[in-house]
Amino acid sequence: MPELPEVENTRRNLVRAGLPGCAISSAEITWANTVKKPSAAELAVGLKNRTIQDVQRRGKYLVFPLSGAGPANFIVHLGMTGRLLVQPQSQGPDPMTRHSFPLDDGRELRFVDGRKFGKLWLVDSPAEVLPAMSPEPFDDQFTVETLAESFAGKKAPVKALLLDQSIACGLGNLYADESLFLAGLHPERPASGLSIDEVARLRQSIIDALTAAYGVYDRARDQHWPDPPTALTTWSHPRDVKADCPNCGTKMTAIRVRARGTYFCANCQV
Ligand SMILES: [Zn+2]
Repeated sequence: MPELPEVENTRRNLVRAGLPGCAISSAEITWANTVKKPSAAELAVGLKNRTIQDVQRRGKYLVFPLSGAGPANFIVHLGMTGRLLVQPQSQGPDPMTRHSFPLDDGRELRFVDGRKFGKLWLVDSPAEVLPAMSPEPFDDQFTVETLAESFAGKKAPVKALLLDQSIACGLGNLYADESLFLAGLHPERPASGLSIDEVARLRQSIIDALTAAYGVYDRARDQHWPDPPTALTTWSHPRDVKADCPNCGTKMTAIRVRARGTYFCANCQV
């Protein structure tokens, strides 16, 4: 599932492809359930001849402010498997392409979405769509204090809270595991039991995990342009119980935390 680094990678890919400034000529929606607001037909009409001004991201949502009359924001959630690509109209589309948005320059914005969990909106304001989210991990407002406050009084496993977008927006299963691995914290520790030093270590580990992932994607984009990869292994903990912890050599442990597959080192993470 795309998490913050994958969505940010998509954003950077689209910016590099020169999507801002392009006008959408039409919209071909082949799976209407993807469109959450308004109807698929209204979305198609509403996008026609609108110019994409920018590609922005908030949490795992991509926001495309549009110029001209009509709802001002096209919003995309990639769901489980979604990818957004800008390709020449002459290039054969991936068979899993669900929606196509021909652009005025001979290219096409394509939403490839094998499992069809992606979502689209065309609305006046992102506030109509976006849920309550924590500050972005790279924002100054994502502080040790706010994270500690979110954990206060909560007996839930710290891993479960890291998946709550109102606590650490953009984190999903993989980067929650990686942040806890880097911080040396056991995923089942009750969140309220973490010391302030441990919360500080966790906050820094979240930032370190995301920074490393951005770096991997940025290098891959440079190397593989114009076909950058969209899903890479960017984390350092092995997700395999036959593999050794890279720090201490202990075999990795797999458990379930609130039904989510969780990998950790029972020796390093306490
Ligand atoms: Zn270890």
